[in-house]
Amino acid sequence: MRSLQAATFSIGAPLGWLLIRYLEGADISQDIQSNVLLYAYLLFGTLIVFILFGAYVGNKEKYITELAVKDPLTQIHNRRFFIGRLTEEISRASRYQKPLSMIYFDLDHFKVVNDTYGHPVGDKVLVKVAREVKKNIRSHDIFARTGGEEFAILLPQCEIANAVANAERIRLGLEKMAIEVGSNKSINVTASFGVTSWQKEQSASEFYNCADKNLYAAKEKGRNCVVS
Ligand code: GH3
Ligand code: MG
Ligand code: MG
Repeated sequence: MRSLQAATFSIGAPLGWLLIRYLEGADISQDIQSNVLLYAYLLFGTLIVFILFGAYVGNKEKYITELAVKDPLTQIHNRRFFIGRLTEEISRASRYQKPLSMIYFDLDHFKVVNDTYGHPVGDKVLVKVAREVKKNIRSHDIFARTGGEEFAILLPQCEIANAVANAERIRLGLEKMAIEVGSNKSINVTASFGVTSWQKEQSASEFYNCADKNLYAAKEKGRNCVVS
């Protein structure tokens, strides 16, 4: 995209020179014919340089954008991205009268994992959890790490019953997943889930708080369960 824009800008060099020659009173078609090499150089030389520069800027731009919206550990979206999309999806759900649900979950007793096996193993668990959850969501669901061992999934066009079933599937998948923590040793982790559906007129923070409240209730209920 940036290369294309840059290629368009590159036309400025030969056009600028043409304008200078025109203002000097030169016969333009005569000038082009007698300076073909100069015009070709101005056109193609700048075209190549601009395209290369455009590609470089485009790549950097993509890299920086990814940094701003991705969690570096799990490579899923970060909280900033999630909050931005939350507002957008609420206005879409409101405009088209479509359901919108949220699954909010937090790993159970994760501090024990860190304390027992060390922080690097804790990190590995977080990566594995994100990978496992990704398998169970639709491509247009928005999945993010919203805090240390807290994750959120926004499910556009998904009714509460489906979101609960989805959360239950994810919960079971996590519970079953064995994570290697050393030679011949593996552990299992569980998570508690709060699920909610967006209610008309609810603000983004009210919607989020409702999911958080249900997650808290799941912890209170004994963990490794889904509350809606
Ligand atoms: P609960 O079931 O109530 O959620 O208990 P918990 O131990 O999971 O919750 P608590 O809030 O006490 O501890 C969260 C832990 O998550 C503590 C912190 O060290 C760990 N944690 C947060 N971010 C990271 C991270 O990026 N990497 C690792 N390895 N651990 C993290
Ligand atoms: Mg926890
Ligand atoms: Mg937590």
